[in-house]
Amino acid sequence: FQNQRYYSVSKDRVAKFTGTKNSNGRYTVSIIEGDGIGPEISQAVKDIFEAAKTPIAWEPVDVTPILKDGKTTIPSETIESIERNKVALKGPLATPVGKGHVSLNLTLRRTFNLFANLRPCRSIAGYKTAYDNVDTVLIRENTEGEYSGIEHVVVDGVVQSIKLITREASERVLRFAFQHAEEIGRKKVRVVHKATIMKMSDGLFLNTARDVAKDYPNIEFDYELLDNTCLKMVTDPVPYNDKVLVMPNLYGDILSDMCAGLIGGLGLTPSGNIGDECSIFEAVHGSAPDIAGKGLANPTALLLSSLMMLRHMNLNEYANKIEKATFDTLAEGKSLTGDLGGKAKTHEYAGAIISKL
Ligand code: NAD
Repeated sequence: FQNQRYYSVSKDRVAKFTGTKNSNGRYTVSIIEGDGIGPEISQAVKDIFEAAKTPIAWEPVDVTPILKDGKTTIPSETIESIERNKVALKGPLATPVGKGHVSLNLTLRRTFNLFANLRPCRSIAGYKTAYDNVDTVLIRENTEGEYSGIEHVVVDGVVQSIKLITREASERVLRFAFQHAEEIGRKKVRVVHKATIMKMSDGLFLNTARDVAKDYPNIEFDYELLDNTCLKMVTDPVPYNDKVLVMPNLYGDILSDMCAGLIGGLGLTPSGNIGDECSIFEAVHGSAPDIAGKGLANPTALLLSSLMMLRHMNLNEYANKIEKATFDTLAEGKSLTGDLGGKAKTHEYAGAIISKL
């Protein structure tokens, strides 16, 4: 696993990245440092990028929510920055529980139409977990499903939350899954679903997959019930290493945390929110309020997300260099953060990576 690359991308997809260099020969990237541990892990990534002489100029953006015409939005300067730069790196944003709070994460995904959430999850060489050979690639529909935000009280004590599935959004993410399978050389795409119960919504997703699969005759297509996938994955994840899994929004949210558990936790799993125009890269984890401000956070997940971003921008040379230093540091095991059983502070772990660049 040591030599494998997170998020290899085809020339076609790289060609879709249309960001431009500034007069100093650097690409400008919008950065949302985020809440909780966000600033600490963002600083670690920035320090490592600087030490690696990565040609990136960070443009910090503000995502303080604004209520406009009854809808939550973000400042227009932020929207313009991400539209201009085409890419952003994002720390976690906390979503308060309960009524009246629209998730900023959802707002960002909808604002930039980031329809596919790509979550690779790979064992870390030298870091011992129950399995040492996990290599799953999960794609989550990122704009609808249970996250539609359509909820209402029917009568006192009875509420409805609507799961919305459309053929259009399903087709978009399914095509991305087949294309990504081709890009990374996997021959199988599997839809994870509950169409036995969600007959209409997951049924539409599954039927759309059957149609889309016809356009990719070189990729084998099948499907599996979510509960069965969970059972089989925790029993033996290896049979999933040759597939791309694609699924409706909520299933992908939950299953990807389960995958993170297989390789050592949320401190290690990156993701990319991919759209046709813009993409935003972020860790799978949240703002970890329990350890925020203490210098204990593991920045690996955000760092690997930033490497996905570099490959998306065709800056492979820098991604490869930083990735090797990161995996060597993890394998050496001397400077691990607390979540991996070590005693290193966030900046000490980042320093160990920098010393290997
Ligand atoms: P969480 O992912 O923040 O934390 C879960 C557990 O994992 C905690 O014990 C935490 O300490 C640990 N953890 C997470 N990231 C870590 C890291 N990098 N290093 C070391 N340990 C780490 O989940 P939560 O506590 O359920 O959520 C906290 C907040 O984050 C909530 O407001 C939630 O809405 C938000 N959230 C945001 C995103 C996002 O921005 N994409 C994703 C998930 C949750």
